[in-house]
Amino acid sequence: MRPFVLIVIGASIRSAFPAVALSPPDPFQRTDSAPEQRPFGLPFAEPPGPDTWLMVQPYGNTIGAFRQRKTTYRAGQGLHFGIDFAARCGTPVVAIGDGMVSEVDALFHGAAPHNLMIDHPNGYASFYGHLLERPPLSPGQPVRRGQVIGKVGDPDGTCRSRPHLHLEIRDAPAHRRAYNPVLLIEADWDSLALIGGFSRGFQKDLADPRRWQFLDDQPEVVFGGPLLNDFANPWPPEWREP
Ligand SMILES: [Zn+2]
Repeated sequence: MRPFVLIVIGASIRSAFPAVALSPPDPFQRTDSAPEQRPFGLPFAEPPGPDTWLMVQPYGNTIGAFRQRKTTYRAGQGLHFGIDFAARCGTPVVAIGDGMVSEVDALFHGAAPHNLMIDHPNGYASFYGHLLERPPLSPGQPVRRGQVIGKVGDPDGTCRSRPHLHLEIRDAPAHRRAYNPVLLIEADWDSLALIGGFSRGFQKDLADPRRWQFLDDQPEVVFGGPLLNDFANPWPPEWREP
């Protein structure tokens, strides 16, 4: 009986003193410093899943990036400076926010064979890499959030090797810094990390083993800056070609 009684009392109090005075504290209110509403959306219209797309490598101090810190990821201070989403070749990619196309196939940014940069009015830019084809867009062209701007491709050009979208968020218009998209894209990132293929985790510096071990505590990248992950005592240990 007790829950019923409480509900009745609650209802009568609410009707006697409506609205403001009785609004309870929200037990699910965020207490960290992340913004309430992140400004961007995901780069796919379809929900995630085994027959659509999955997150396979997050942004930051990943083990994969550590192993290629002096080669592939050297320009980005040794970190994986974007998020990888596995998807079949040809999967439509959508703009994560309203903006204007700033660069098409600027391959000095990496992520061949085709890529696209969109500048957004909030001071960020989004970069879509490893696209299948040159996007049919030109610099200066406006795009809307959710608009299809390209197709997923494969960096190896086969569509059977490792087709995926590499998505970055940078500063606009300079494009010299990379930010953690997890903090800027509205999504259930913890669930995406559980169902994707990211099983190897983050590289540890045994001198400071808790640093940069989570989806949302990764450092910003300044392109051309010093390596951030050239750890003296890394774990897993240094990897060498067998
Ligand atoms: Zn990537």
